[in-house]
Amino acid sequence: MAERVLELDDLTVRFHLKRGELTAVDGVSFVVNRGQTFGLVGESGSGKSVTARAIMRLVPTPPGEIPRGRILFEGRSVLELDDEEMRALRGRRIAMVFQEPMSALNPVFTVGDQISDALRSNLGLSRRAARERVVELLSLVGIPSPRRRLDSYVHEFSGGMRQRVMLAMALSCNPTFLIADEPTTALDVTIQATILELITGMIERLGMSLIFITHNLGVVAHACDVIGVIYASHLVEMGDKREIFRNPQHPYTIGLLNSIPRLDTQAKYLVPIKGSVCNMMAPPRGCKFHPRCTQAMDVCREEIPKLREIAPGHFAACHLHGRG
Ligand code: SF4
Repeated sequence: MAERVLELDDLTVRFHLKRGELTAVDGVSFVVNRGQTFGLVGESGSGKSVTARAIMRLVPTPPGEIPRGRILFEGRSVLELDDEEMRALRGRRIAMVFQEPMSALNPVFTVGDQISDALRSNLGLSRRAARERVVELLSLVGIPSPRRRLDSYVHEFSGGMRQRVMLAMALSCNPTFLIADEPTTALDVTIQATILELITGMIERLGMSLIFITHNLGVVAHACDVIGVIYASHLVEMGDKREIFRNPQHPYTIGLLNSIPRLDTQAKYLVPIKGSVCNMMAPPRGCKFHPRCTQAMDVCREEIPKLREIAPGHFAACHLHGRG
């Protein structure tokens, strides 16, 4: 039986802002097994990154709070760990790669110093051993002449190379779980493919689990085993990648798939999803997708549909599939 590494159960994250209250993540539940790659897909502001930050306990409190739900990592409740236990978990067990390396890497220290500092404080390596390990890591992520690049600063690397440095930093303490938050979004299309291949190759080689966050369903088609689609703070569909692509059930997922350019159809134009994501400070009643949904019914304007299993391993939150 597959080993559960990460389990989110009814996770809810709320922010108390001057303008009012905003529920960024609402009752999200999913499981990631050992060695599995999970793609979390949705538009900007849907709650993907807040979910990732909640797992890493990086949601600032206040203004944020987690009023409901559990996060279990390797059987331990992340929300109940003390600061020292949490520090040990971050980096050594779970690592994160961010969209914009410039905001995550320090511009005033060399790349070698930044990664070796993390190695020395987390793994207790000597200065010399840490530098040797950094050379290995830079080489592992495909940075040419790694020994020479040790003393370079972040601004001396191109966008793709910076993302490789981030990945080297994330892998430095041999974590078993990686969260990649839109790691390819800020890159040119050709570099995106290279970085994507690098991440998935590493995950396979090192036997890690992955959460890959993106707004692009086309990207997770290559990178992930399981896909979760999130809309306006709710997980609306989840299942095996092949099932989601061949047999999508939620109108939002269908809309996302129709908006991906494809070479294997005669269609001349992409079909956009009408409207835009709702105002999260004042979301609509019932299903939050109903103002954009071509199949909305009366019940959709009143009741929030629950995520339910509509076929083995395939879940959807939509009144078209019966009331949850
Ligand atoms: Fe559309 Fe209703 Fe399903 Fe929401 S619940 S996606 S409005 S059919």
